[in-house]
Amino acid sequence: MSHSKKILFSCLLVLFGPFLHASTFVGNGGNMGDIELQVAIQQIRDAILNLPDAAQPCQCELDEDDHPVCETLKSLTEDQQKYCGDVLQKQRTELLELLAKADRIQFRWSDEDLKVMEMGRPLSVDALANYEQQEILIQRNRFLSSSAHERIFLLSHELLHLAPWEGKPIKDEQNSGPFQEVQGGRHLLNAVAAQVVVQSYRKDLFDKYEGALNRSQNTKSHWLEAFAGISHQSEKTTSLTIEDFQNLRLAYRYHWDRLGVGLRFDTSRGTKTLFTRTKAEEQRQKWGVGLNYRIVLGSNPLTVWGQSHLILAAYLEMLQSRYKLDDGEVELQDGATAPGATVGCTYYTPARGGLWFSLGVEYSSFDYSYKGFSTLRSFDEKSRLGSVNLGVSYGF
Ligand SMILES: [Zn+2]
Repeated sequence: MSHSKKILFSCLLVLFGPFLHASTFVGNGGNMGDIELQVAIQQIRDAILNLPDAAQPCQCELDEDDHPVCETLKSLTEDQQKYCGDVLQKQRTELLELLAKADRIQFRWSDEDLKVMEMGRPLSVDALANYEQQEILIQRNRFLSSSAHERIFLLSHELLHLAPWEGKPIKDEQNSGPFQEVQGGRHLLNAVAAQVVVQSYRKDLFDKYEGALNRSQNTKSHWLEAFAGISHQSEKTTSLTIEDFQNLRLAYRYHWDRLGVGLRFDTSRGTKTLFTRTKAEEQRQKWGVGLNYRIVLGSNPLTVWGQSHLILAAYLEMLQSRYKLDDGEVELQDGATAPGATVGCTYYTPARGGLWFSLGVEYSSFDYSYKGFSTLRSFDEKSRLGSVNLGVSYGF
């Protein structure tokens, strides 16, 4: 934990006392929920950017009149609708600035339950805004299980706590304008946040970001993979060397951030005809363990390019192979075992729901000997294969 993080953590502990047990890192890199958070932030930004120039009263004009946000807006008096519209209009620039400058506001994930004391009782909440720290702490599981419009509603409400109104932050337990109740501040911010949701529907912002939300995410830890490919050996070691193989592979990878470890199993088969009528066949099986390194290609994780990545891999493998010669009358065969290594580079492009397609190239090297042919002299194989593989992966 860095020094500044320690300070922040201590401040939070002082602020939220015994109710806050743990929180995690800033949500801007490759953490679970970051895509959903960034989409919600973009939607709020787009919604506010596209507001009409003159303030309009907060009203529900959605086709579905029974939409949950309409409940909030329909209960407003005419004065409250107008005041809500004024607040949104006047806070517009401030909100856009908060969202545009990364150094002005921090989003943090909490995996613990978030609670605040309200009216002397602990109240469980989905997120907390801290005006002094200019920070929003979000309960991750609750955020991820919310719908897209609920996320916009929640974040808009919390963002409004961070934007000063008439020189000071709006608190839940205060009154403001025609919102003259103990919880008038909360009522007002809920109304403004509901209006941001209405504006998001008006501008089709849910459809716009659907692709980004459904697209497979490269930050997953577990990867199950299947590959099919072909290999070729360009230099023959002996006249018995088989040059072309077809390969199948099953693999598992585990990733921390960029670095990962993997296990894989390969099976391949190659054939050729010798002396016009002798059929040669080599079957190879490999078990491997290795290291993987992920390089993400684009900088915006909401795009296909920002999820696409390369995996550089280096594996140590144990090969078991069997070579068969059959001239129609006599069949000879022998087996060999040898350690070796494979290095490769694979490009991954995201599909939906955790699925990925990939295309990779690799190079493997194994030296081994067949010594057990009864009538042939033994031969040494220096296998140097270049391969191309197509794959399907599932990351979760
Ligand atoms: Zn609040």
